[in-house]
Formats: sequence, C-alpha cells, structure tokens
Amino acid sequence: MLTVDQARDWLLQRAQVVRTTESLPLLQALGRILAEPVLATVDVPPQDNSAMDGYALSSADGSGPLPVSQRIPAGCQPQPLPAGTVARIFTGAPIPAGADAVVMQEQAEVQDDGQVTFTQPVKPGQNIRRAGEDICQGATVLAAGKMLATADLGLAASIGVPALTVYRPLRVAVFFTGDELTEPGQPLVPGHIYNSNRYWLVPELMRLGCEVTDLGIVPDSLSRTREILQDAAALADVIMTCGGVSVGEEDHVKAAVEAEGSLDLWKIAIKPGKPLASGKVGQAGFIGLPGNPVSGFVTYQVLVKPYLQRCAGLLTETDTAPARYPAGFAWERPDARREEFLRVKLVQQDGQWQLQRYPNQGSGVLTSCAWADGLVRLAPGQQVVPGDMLALLSIAV
Ligand code: AMP
Ligand code: MG
Repeated sequence: MLTVDQARDWLLQRAQVVRTTESLPLLQALGRILAEPVLATVDVPPQDNSAMDGYALSSADGSGPLPVSQRIPAGCQPQPLPAGTVARIFTGAPIPAGADAVVMQEQAEVQDDGQVTFTQPVKPGQNIRRAGEDICQGATVLAAGKMLATADLGLAASIGVPALTVYRPLRVAVFFTGDELTEPGQPLVPGHIYNSNRYWLVPELMRLGCEVTDLGIVPDSLSRTREILQDAAALADVIMTCGGVSVGEEDHVKAAVEAEGSLDLWKIAIKPGKPLASGKVGQAGFIGLPGNPVSGFVTYQVLVKPYLQRCAGLLTETDTAPARYPAGFAWERPDARREEFLRVKLVQQDGQWQLQRYPNQGSGVLTSCAWADGLVRLAPGQQVVPGDMLALLSIAV
C-alpha cells in the first residue's frame, strides 16, 4: 500500500502540463493560469505624486506665509516651483521640481492677501508617494504558474499590460461506469441507483477551469469501455472515470485501460477510498476514481485535484498552513493502517469555534460531504479526544 503522500508525489511527478498558451485581455483572464511571468516596464507610481489635497512646497521654506505660484490638478505636468512659493496641489498630481513636501489643506490657512501659512511644522518627504513605491521597473509583478485573481488583473493594468499569456484550459473527459446507474429525472428501476458522482465531479472540474467533455454513463462492458476510452483519448488531456476499478469481474475499466494503454492500480492507505487507478491512454493521462461517492470525493480532493491543477499549469509556491481548531468530538477506534479523512464542520460552542464530525463516516454516505466544511486528516492509529487541535483542510477551490 502507498501512503497518501507517496501517491500524491507520484501523480504530481507525472503531471503533463498543457503545452499551448493563448493571450487573453485582462477582463477575460480571471481564474486562468499565467504561463509566463509578467515584468514591469514602468515604475508604479510613474512619478512622485501627492497623497493629499493641499500645498506642495520646499520644506526649507518653513511655515510661511508663502504665495501660491501655480495650481496642479491630477493629470497635468507642473512647472518647477520657484523658491519661496507654494503650489496648490491635489491628490495624485505630480510633485513639481523644487518641492519636497505636501501639507494637507486641513493644516493650511489662506490669508486675505492669498498667501498661505501652515499650522504644523513641515517635514521633508511628507505626504509624497514616491515613484516606484509600489512597483519598480524590471520587477517580476506576477510569477508564471499563478491562478489569476482579481487583484492580479488590477496589478497587470497598473503597469500598462492589456493582455496576459495563459495556458489553454485543461481538457478533461469523464465517464461513469456501472449497469446500475440511472440519470436523475429518469425513473429508478429496481436494482438501480442514481448517478451522483457526475454531479459533484463535473462541477469540481469546471470550478478548476477545466474544459469538460462529459461522456455520461458507460455500461459494464469491456468492449464499450474500450471504445469510449479511445474517443476520450482523442480529445482530452486527462481521462477520468468513476467506478469499475476494483478487481470484480464486472469491473472492466482496469482491463480496458490495460488494453488501450498502460495502468497502475494502487491500493492507497487512505480511508475512505482505497483503490485509485492511474495511467495513460494514447497521449492522455488516465485517472480512475473509486465508485463509492465518498471514496471518490475524498480521493479527488486529496490526490487528484493537485494533479489536475499541476497539469493545468498551476505552481503553488508553498502549501498554506491550514487553520487549526479544537476537536469537539472523540475518535476512539482509528484505522491502524490507513490515514483517515473525516468529514467535519466548524460550529460555535459557547462562543468558541470547534470541529464536529459527521456521525456516519461511511464511504457511501454522501450526506457527510455536503454537510462538511472540510476534512481532518488523521495518521494511521491516531485517536482524537475532545480539545485536540486539528487542521481543517478546505474542500473549496
Ligand atoms: P465500483 O467501484 O464500480 O465497484 O462501485 C462501487 C460502489 O459505488 C457501488 O456501490 C456502485 O454502485 C457505486 N457507484 C459507482 N459509480 C457510481 C456513481 N456514478 N454514482 C453513485 N454511485 C456509484
Ligand atoms: Mg461498478
């Protein structure tokens, strides 16, 4: 049995990053993954400017009275400031040559003759935003491999970049195996169950930004599974399936992938969710999730999501430390050999946040995933007593 970390590393090492890139205008680039670093060709701000509405002056001229020699609204280019005078200036306007301070208008008094005096001592540099204070020309503003957030797009705009080079979306083909599966909306005949995996997996993939081809339900037939695999390999970077990877004689995914490509079937020391298949069909990567909805969901969150993110081009610099909370529950009979991922929820008890676990942690109980805020990862044999500090692993993107 592989440990969770071994399986995750193994997958990450084999992730093939999308090769094609495209240039997108900023407003279309949210959530996309940057393929090239973005370097600043300008300083931000481009020149020293005023942080206040007020008066620009040379601090050596003291507290006045001083005459006003020019007016500098934002957006204009000022004249050099004659010694012994001040300039009326507004927020964001360039500082004139010869001035080294701005006094806010609340600290200025205009005399009847138009001259200005200041009520506080004037310090050199005060209320001036320096050129390059935010970004210096030549600096790397955004690193390759970053998923673009709203502030990133604003930052790119602040250095005058109108478009960004991003990876094209990862193409993922999915299908769901099992003669017992019925789509919601259809009547359920005896012996059948509804295809629930489709309805959490496809949205998870869409939320990652993948371009999903949903090939629907595939019956438990070797020849049909092989045909669908060929179709999927022709159009996808990664093929994902649910179910059919155990070793029962109705589990055809394993044999089909072996016939069309290559397969590694692992037993992973993870609960819920032991079997995970990985391999290749043609040029496409292959991931076979277990059919049990909770096993599939947890395996996806813990192992497959990081793999898909890497394939899509994402490079996470460091793992962010998850927040830790006290357990509001006991876990007395841990699995001795497998790491367990409990579905937990954050609740407030007497003004204190604590983690509660869903009472039924069974691998078929999808209610636990819908109820949960996240997962708690327990080492093999790890017991929990109330008050133990536990890290909460998010199941959001
Ligand atoms: P399998 O891995 O094919 O042996 O499936 C394991 C269990 O998960 C069985 O009880 C299946 O009926 C169930 N299962 C498989 N696929 C799905 C699905 N798409 N939606 C809901 N349950 C499923
Ligand atoms: Mg099956």
